[in-house]
Amino acid sequence: MGVFSKSIKTFDDLFVHTLQDMYYAEQAIVAALPKMAKKAATPALRQAFATHLRESETQITRLERVFALHGAETKPVTCQAVDGIIDETDHLMSEIEDPVVLDAAMLSAAQAIEHYEICRYGTLVAFARRLGYEDCARILEETLAEEKATDRKLTDLAERGINSRAAAE
Ligand code: FE
Ligand code: FE
Ligand code: FE
Repeated sequence: MGVFSKSIKTFDDLFVHTLQDMYYAEQAIVAALPKMAKKAATPALRQAFATHLRESETQITRLERVFALHGAETKPVTCQAVDGIIDETDHLMSEIEDPVVLDAAMLSAAQAIEHYEICRYGTLVAFARRLGYEDCARILEETLAEEKATDRKLTDLAERGINSRAAAE
């Protein structure tokens, strides 16, 4: 395979590729969250999933603004990592009958997704700054803050009840 057949040639291309990866990931997350919200037995967890569904829709819009600002193609490219976490979550959910244990499983799966997103958006903010795209960096930082807040909220839900209820089953 010659060097000219590779699609990511520059650091800027890598930035755009990572944006497109997250564009795919957010859409996969928006598709997965309603099922998780529906299956959540704990009202606060159901609410957290529903809230983050709306936030994720806004995050998709933010990525579209970044594509437009950057003049890059608004196109999803498969994120194998998020597909993998979602597949794993589906499989796990299908193996659990107890609703409280299922809540603990979905909560931990959601945190795996948030941690992936925190990692990728952190990278995107750093890449944007390095490339001199301060406008893009600021938009991506809004999403990064939302993902971190969601992760903290999920930790709170786990520590304040869901894990101990699951342990008491
Ligand atoms: Fe997100
Ligand atoms: Fe990815
Ligand atoms: Fe998220």
